[in-house]
Parts: sequence; structure tokens; C-alpha cells
Amino acid sequence: MHGYPCCMPPIQRREIEGPARVRFAPSPTGNLHVGGARTALFNWLVARHTGGVFVLRLEDTDKERSTPESEAQILRAMEWLGLDWDEGPYRQSERSDVYLDAIERLKASGHVYAAWETEEELETQRDNARAHKQAPVVRGRRDWTDDEIASFVAEGRRPAWRFAVDVTGHTVIEDFVRGEVTFAHTAIEDFVVARSDGTPTYNLAAAVDDLEMQISHVVRGEDHLSNTPKQMMVIRALGGQTPEYAHIPLILGPDKKRLSKRHGAASVEDLRDAGFIQSAVLNVFALLGWSFDDKTSMFTVDELIAKFGVARISKSPAIFDLKKLEVLNGRYLRMLSEDEFSDALIGHLERSGFFADKDAGARARVIETVPAVKRKLSTLEDYSSLAGWLFRPLEIEAEPWESLVSDVRHSIQAIGGGLGRLEQLEHFTLEDIKDALQDQLHILGEDARGFLEPQRIALTGQRVSTGIYESLVLAGRDEALTRYRETLGRLADLWVA
Ligand code: GLU
Repeated sequence: MHGYPCCMPPIQRREIEGPARVRFAPSPTGNLHVGGARTALFNWLVARHTGGVFVLRLEDTDKERSTPESEAQILRAMEWLGLDWDEGPYRQSERSDVYLDAIERLKASGHVYAAWETEEELETQRDNARAHKQAPVVRGRRDWTDDEIASFVAEGRRPAWRFAVDVTGHTVIEDFVRGEVTFAHTAIEDFVVARSDGTPTYNLAAAVDDLEMQISHVVRGEDHLSNTPKQMMVIRALGGQTPEYAHIPLILGPDKKRLSKRHGAASVEDLRDAGFIQSAVLNVFALLGWSFDDKTSMFTVDELIAKFGVARISKSPAIFDLKKLEVLNGRYLRMLSEDEFSDALIGHLERSGFFADKDAGARARVIETVPAVKRKLSTLEDYSSLAGWLFRPLEIEAEPWESLVSDVRHSIQAIGGGLGRLEQLEHFTLEDIKDALQDQLHILGEDARGFLEPQRIALTGQRVSTGIYESLVLAGRDEALTRYRETLGRLADLWVA
């Protein structure tokens, strides 16, 4: 027997010490989605946990794709999530001078060189490399003659500027999540830092900003891992000290495929509009790659701030499961006080246009329904299907109507019997209604479902709604009896016919 232990001891990973200066650096080219929001949250938590600073930086150098709408949407979504920033938003589009200055310094120190190759020439170079089974890594020519350069200039060509990667070396990232990651420089091309039109590339601008903004820790998606050695080279070439890095895992759907719209992984605002509340969304985002232990699934924001740390971020992909969010959202909704719940619900209904075609009393009526719906909703958007019947005239949905019609005699007996009892009630209260209907149920000798289902359909027109007794109280005597009579009338027509 060899003495290999059956299980490796858990790796003791490092935590970030002291106040961290972190940043969230979205490109305003679309909405804030699950992945970006998770990155923002992790950075915010690092800042709040360590008593540090959370910087917001908009990487809007891509003029074609960056839009003010996207920028506004990202800021709104962050505000809704409660991710307040301490500095910024800085905009890269307003910082060209800083990048141009850095590029000049890199030229002066010989860390970058003018690359005169055309796109076609580069493609030929890459094809040749592939043909020789080598990685298509671009190394520009650096021995252009003065005559060649003069003729390029004469024909209007402008050079891009490439970083002169030291191919003999390698870059080591001591990543908080992934451990030691080593990149051999032979695999890293002489990346462009300034395009031929003079504009800086992402790798240049991000590195310069991280240096200038004194970012101590870069927490970002694993998809950026291959950019990191390039950015470290730029920072070192500028004489700076590199930040530390934590590359957080990819997010997949429950089917283990890369997260996409198919998984309901919409933007943060889409999640809000689908009736999820901030506390639940934040909680689920926090668990995308991070965990406190194997059992705790609910955290308040304060608990997250107290407990969060990069040492417990997993290397394996995280799974975003909308079903889990629904369950958690329901739990969070039930934990709200009635006032908090009412505020959240009214806010949601206002945004979704629920009140647009309703009278002035509708808000008050919504508030009246809160005790009847609070325990039944998974999302605020479920409200309409559960209680919307109360705000419109009786409309019996096709399927419940079929079920009444399938045994007209029985339906008339149940609804007629219920109506008879309700008409006699002196007080239309929950208790009296319940007693009367229960009593009728016993007289008819029916099972509860067989009797109560038709009551619900007669009143609400649907099979799923607020509880039947509560629904009767909410409708009030006149409205309830009118609806019963209407349903009964329609059934009687059928019976006679
Ligand atoms: N602007 C980059 C993005 O949206 C972020 C890069 C970074 O965090 O360094 O993917």
C-alpha cells in the first residue's frame, strides 16, 4: 500500500487583506446581465467587506457599440441592486489624454514598436503559422527601412503600435481563485496597444486605468484571464506595480451550457420586471461561484458583506437557475412585512402598467389583497394571475368553463347551493362565509374540492386564485353574488337548451 491519503486536505486559499480598491468596468454596449451584475456584486462586496473603495469605470472606447442608453441602463440596474459606487463613473472616452501619454511613454522606452503590416499581410502570417502547426501569434517586423517607411507614409498608411513581448519570459499570475497560472510568452502575440487611427485598445486602456486608479485587486470573469498577462506587461513597462487578480468562474445554465437568454438569464431590469425583488436577486447572484458553507442559502446584504471573501470562490463554473431564484424570491416575499410587501407590489404594478386602465381606488384594493396573496406569490408578476380577476368583470377562462359544463347538473347544484347560503349571510365576513360554505359542503355530502372548485370558478373565472373564502370577502357581498348569479345563469341556459 502506498501512503496516499484518500482525500486531499482543503487548499488554504488566500483572502484579500486590508482595504481594497476594486473596480467594476462594464462596456456600455448592452444591458447589465447576470454575469456583469455578478462581477459588480463581487467587487462591491470586496470593497464593503474590507472597508475599501468601489470604483465604477465605463469602458466606452468602442464608439460604434457604446450607447448612452446602455450606460443609463447599467447605472439604473446597479442602483436597483443597491451596488453604490464610491468613485466614478469614470468614462474611458473622457480619458484619451491619459492613454496617449502612456503610449508615448511606451514608445520612448522602446516597449512598443510601429507595426506597418496591413491586415492582409497579418493574415498571411497567421496562415503560415497554422500551416506549420504553430500558434498564429503575430510578431511584427521591426526592421523596416527608412525608404519603406517613407513610401508607407506617402501612401497614407499609419502604423498600429504593438507591444514588444519578451518571448524568452513568462508571466505568472498568483490568482486568488485559480492559484498560480503561468503564461509562456511564446504564446502571447505582440498585441496592439494603439490602433492605426491612434486610439488605444482595451488591453492598453484597462491596464493604464488600473494603474492610474490605483486598483489593488481586479476581480473579473475568467474569460479575461488571457488578457491579464498582457495588461500586467503594460503596467510593468510603465514602471507600475500590478494589482492582484481573482478570476471568477463562468456562469452556465442548468443544462451546463453557457448562460444565455434561453435560460431566462435576462438583464437585471428584465428580472426586476419579471417580479423578482432585489434581496432575492442579490442573494442568488452572490451564490454564483461563491458559497459560505454547504448549507446556507439565504443571506441578507449585511451578512453577505460580513461573510464574503475571495477564498471561497469556486474554480468550477457556477449554475444560474431561474427556478431557484423563483423559490428564493417567494421566500423573501413571505419574509417582508405587509407594508414592505405592499410597497414592492405597488411599485411593480406601477412599472408594469397594471394601473393604467384602472380607477383611482385600485391601489387601495391591491393593498387590501395583500394578506391573501403574500404567501402565495413566487414573483410579484404572479399577482395578476392570482388576483387580477378582482379588477375586471367576470371572465370565465375556457378550461374552467369546460369543467363546469362537463357536469352541468353538479355545477348548478354546487354553485346554487353556495349562492343560497351566501345570500342568507348577515355578515359577509371570512368566518361566516367559511362556516356557511363548509356546512353546505356537508349537507351535499361532497368532497371539498368537488364543491369548492365550482365556487372559485363562479367567482373568479379561474382555477388558481386567491383562496376562495378570502376571495369572497375581497369581492364583497354585492360583487360576489352578482358573479355567482351570472355564472349560474349561463349554466342554466345550457341546462334548458
Ligand atoms: N470592459 C470589460 C468587459 O466589460 C471589463 C474588463 C475588465 O474587467 O477588466 O468585459
